[in-house]
Amino acid sequence: MIALEIIEKKKHNIELTAEEIDFFVRAYTYGDIPDYQMSAFLMAVYFNGMTPEETSNLTMSFVHTGDMVDLSEIEGIKVDKHSTGGVGDKISLIVIPLVAATGIPVAKMSGRGLGHTGGTIDKLESIRGFRTELSPEEFIKNVNEHKMAIVGQTANLTPADKKIYALRDVTATIDSIPLIASSIMSKKIASGSDAIVLDVKVGSGAFMKTIEEAEDLARTMVSIGNSLGRKTVAVLTNMDQPLGHEVGNSNEVEEAIRVLKGHGAEDETEVALTIAAHMCVLGGAYGRFDEAYEALKDIIESGKAFDKLVELVEIQGGDAEVVRDTNLLPKAKRSIDVLSEESGYVIGLQAENIGVAAMLLGAGRRVKGDSIDFGAGITLKKKIGDYVEKGEVLCVLHTDHDDIEDAQQRAFDAYTIGAEKPVINPIVYETIE
Ligand code: URA
Repeated sequence: MIALEIIEKKKHNIELTAEEIDFFVRAYTYGDIPDYQMSAFLMAVYFNGMTPEETSNLTMSFVHTGDMVDLSEIEGIKVDKHSTGGVGDKISLIVIPLVAATGIPVAKMSGRGLGHTGGTIDKLESIRGFRTELSPEEFIKNVNEHKMAIVGQTANLTPADKKIYALRDVTATIDSIPLIASSIMSKKIASGSDAIVLDVKVGSGAFMKTIEEAEDLARTMVSIGNSLGRKTVAVLTNMDQPLGHEVGNSNEVEEAIRVLKGHGAEDETEVALTIAAHMCVLGGAYGRFDEAYEALKDIIESGKAFDKLVELVEIQGGDAEVVRDTNLLPKAKRSIDVLSEESGYVIGLQAENIGVAAMLLGAGRRVKGDSIDFGAGITLKKKIGDYVEKGEVLCVLHTDHDDIEDAQQRAFDAYTIGAEKPVINPIVYETIE
């Protein structure tokens, strides 16, 4: 096969065969096709899109360039969840113990944060001693015995996606639905679960800015999952502003604990219960979504969900005392208030600016390999729809750094104040299955 002819075909919007896609992906991954030809191909996909068959084939080509995790030794239907990315998104910390408390096995692989988005693995490592590197045997044993385990990604999953994602980042081809869908779904398929719940974020702080775009992405991913034999459900959730009130690491753990104890922020509790309820239905613990949702509320109320988090921390070597007494979590040395310069309603709270500000305070990495201050982050005192007086605190910055002008400015700029109380969009929009 000739790379140039495949690019020509895609340029003229002629459907590619599975073999052509596979050839192109493999040859690029192994260095036989240069960046400039892959860039041209990606731009042709950006403008012409892909058919559902092409998108599924692209997904499987990504999967086949790397390892597939084998979870066959885990009993029961293994259900995974994935978020398309947001600021303050601590939903995995909540749903892992919550779903495991119903007996559904959760074998979770998660990433670290980079840039303005956080990562579940970093958040958990703010708990003293918590090990996110488990051997495959220990991982499987923990899921079989305790119904849950979480590890950082160590296997060589979808190297093609890794290389292509980096190229998309510098060729303005990130925001293409078939490319995002195949990138996300390839990692989920390679991770080995039987069923997948996707949390597709919509709003100013997400890749997908409108419901229509998010529906399109969600339908594409659900169709890929189902066509490859993984039952997949997508939930569209609001990312007009960060989720909950805490953005960082240890402060996000503390906020997740509040949800598991039954007194978390409303937005976060609703998203967590919705994702967890779909996971439980796919896993077969309950027949219907509303039945699962109510049962999960009872599990939180009874204290079982929190106990399950304590168990998760214990089996992964963490100090469970830190979970029982969150004052023991790492705290930053300084807290700085960001004040409003006018009175009015918060009508906008840009998630990306808050995420970047938290990173600059030490909660995230500018580049891979940077270390993290677990206690650094931001507490949002005001969110969209809240009234604020001139001089009142909008948010509090937590940091060990002295040089925080840029972070302070970004946090301040993230807020838009207006005279009229804004209409607040729902936190969960719809489910696509
Ligand atoms: N997340 C991914 O893993 N891939 C994309 O293309 C976009 C978001």
